[in-house]
Amino acid sequence: MGITTQCKTLSPIAEDILGKRYYHEGEDWKGLCERVASVISNGDKELVDDFFDVMYNLDFLPNSPTLANAGKESDRQQLSACFILPVEDDIVEIMETVKNTAIVHKSGGGTGFDFSSTRPKGSPVSSTNGVASGPLSWMKIINATTEEVKQGGMRRGANMGTLRVDHPDILDFILCKKNDKTMTNFNLSVGVSDVFMDAVEKGDDFELVNPHNKEVILTDAREIFDIICKNSWESGEPGMIFIDVVNSTNPVPHLGAIKSSNPCGEFYFIPFGVCNLGSINLVNMLKSVEDGRYVIDFDRLKKITEIAVTFLDKVIDVNHFPLPEIHDMAHNTRPIGLGVMGLADMLLYMKLPYDSDAGREMVGKVMKFIDDVGWATSNMLGRELGTFPEFQQENLPSQKTPRNCQITTIAPTGTLATFAGVSFGIEPNFNFVYRRKIVDSEFIQVHPLFEKVAKEEGFYSEELMETLRTTPSLKVRNLAGVPEHVKEYFITAFDISPEDHVKMQATVQKYVDNAVSKTINLPYDATSEQIGELYMMAWKLGCKGITVYRDGSRDDQVIVAVKES
Ligand code: ADP
Repeated sequence: MGITTQCKTLSPIAEDILGKRYYHEGEDWKGLCERVASVISNGDKELVDDFFDVMYNLDFLPNSPTLANAGKESDRQQLSACFILPVEDDIVEIMETVKNTAIVHKSGGGTGFDFSSTRPKGSPVSSTNGVASGPLSWMKIINATTEEVKQGGMRRGANMGTLRVDHPDILDFILCKKNDKTMTNFNLSVGVSDVFMDAVEKGDDFELVNPHNKEVILTDAREIFDIICKNSWESGEPGMIFIDVVNSTNPVPHLGAIKSSNPCGEFYFIPFGVCNLGSINLVNMLKSVEDGRYVIDFDRLKKITEIAVTFLDKVIDVNHFPLPEIHDMAHNTRPIGLGVMGLADMLLYMKLPYDSDAGREMVGKVMKFIDDVGWATSNMLGRELGTFPEFQQENLPSQKTPRNCQITTIAPTGTLATFAGVSFGIEPNFNFVYRRKIVDSEFIQVHPLFEKVAKEEGFYSEELMETLRTTPSLKVRNLAGVPEHVKEYFITAFDISPEDHVKMQATVQKYVDNAVSKTINLPYDATSEQIGELYMMAWKLGCKGITVYRDGSRDDQVIVAVKES
């Protein structure tokens, strides 16, 4: 069995969030798990107990919309977190997309849009004899709609907006948040091609192409790249999407090219794509062995992965999708997004530094295992229930009978990890002392493992714990009395070099079918050139996208605000 010291009991903050937004009338955690297990197993008695157990024990949790909406009346039973909506160069189509955005946000889902097919600012519009106001005007409409829907929805809405780097309005796009302070409901990413990145490396010219009339403007690739980096330095945005890398693993290329992702960057798909996520709590997959060390219980991880894949596949069948195109896409491609949470805590228990080769090796082993077991389960489900209708062997050469076009995706787990009481997704810990305010009381918590290790290693004292509690900004790394080898693995996001952040993302990406949500943390004094080097590094290591955050550069990050709402 896994260790359960910090996970079986829900924290006061978890209960607070659950009570406000997740529990149905008169429910508690057990009731919620019973409701969700019953709806998702859909009458299959063999599955219902397994589904209940994995959630109740916090071994695996499906994404927030599944927890909150399962069991609501049928047209409100929207269970997915990620949507990709189309943006055509046509006002009527845009309004349809705006409507669908509102529906998705109300139900707790996030939406991604690519604006690259819209004609640039100043282009003629023949039907009205006017001129187009460009992709940014479409973004404004969606941004304003999100703002309005915020009030009544399950949580504040979130959007990802992408524009290809070869769109003539690319500079307006890069600067749009700087120029328009109301654009707060979008995360931005530039879709960069391999041709562009090569041109940046070589210092070559680069072609901007008008999507409407195919007119070409020649520009300097490095100039655009530098502007992207400078803005990321200032505000953390825009991020980059390596669009050719993304399309190289498109499981359904015959249905179209991928151009965008959901708000946090873990799900890239074609328009009308939708994905329901779920995450395995890696801390619960550990077991202690005789000498007090912790190792992964691979038998248990296999069992939990099999249940999780079956669960996520079943979600598709009972999900109420907001429009027929999304319903059809979901049923024809059946993507699921199995990820992990508590990865950094898992490494802590194993005493492996997050920024070490040994740490990355262990992470690679675990992720490969989950991906392999996940695909084996999907192939088994496919033999029983049929492969996904759009399966074409050449697109997934190593699979024979998969039920799903993708298995793994790493979500941020902004809420789920808080429920499970573990570190977020694959992110390192931000601190080992947490100060949290709930209603009128303030809770100061020290990471439970720290006390345990301090006692085991003989450096525990009441005085030391008190120092930690009363000076939360103090890093374990700077704490007198903590042995050097303990300081090596008790590290926070800002102790880890930006390069090591990228290396961890790339390690995980190697074994993940879709993508990885991760922030690359930089110190306040990092330079914009350094950001450029990290972007290059991420591209060369096979990452699908990259988001950086320089300490202190921004206080209104969409998704941070979102998580706390
Ligand atoms: P959770 O832990 O609540 O299940 P995550 O933090 O893992 O959610 O985010 C997963 C995805 O859910 C995001 O990438 C995004 O698509 C969607 N999402 C998260 N927060 C919001 C929000 N406030 N509004 C809309 N969508 C959201």
